[in-house]
Amino acid sequence: MSKSNLNKIKDTLIAEREGLLSKLSGNDLSVDASETPDPVDLAVRNYSKNVMLAVSENESRHVLLINEALQRISDDEYGTCQNCEKNINPKRLAAVPWARYCLECQELVEQGLLEEE
Ligand SMILES: [Zn+2]
Repeated sequence: MSKSNLNKIKDTLIAEREGLLSKLSGNDLSVDASETPDPVDLAVRNYSKNVMLAVSENESRHVLLINEALQRISDDEYGTCQNCEKNINPKRLAAVPWARYCLECQELVEQGLLEEE
């Protein structure tokens, strides 16, 4: 992969990470203890809190994948499948720049056949 391509991908990754981090820090999960909400209100609130936590978990994982991809760029390993070590299709990288695996290995992950680190 050419240097200018890599730089572009790096910019994309960094911009994506910025967006995620600002979203993550914007999530306010604190509950005011001085309030005594009725049970229905509380249930609704817990539900949305859980949803938010689930979203945060996804986003945190996403940030992790982006960090890994940036690390691979600086290690000169970017674009190599972390499982079979084949080159990842450039089209796939353009769509999912933080991809760890080639399409075949990603399918194995999704089928639960490949253990992720
Ligand atoms: Zn692979």
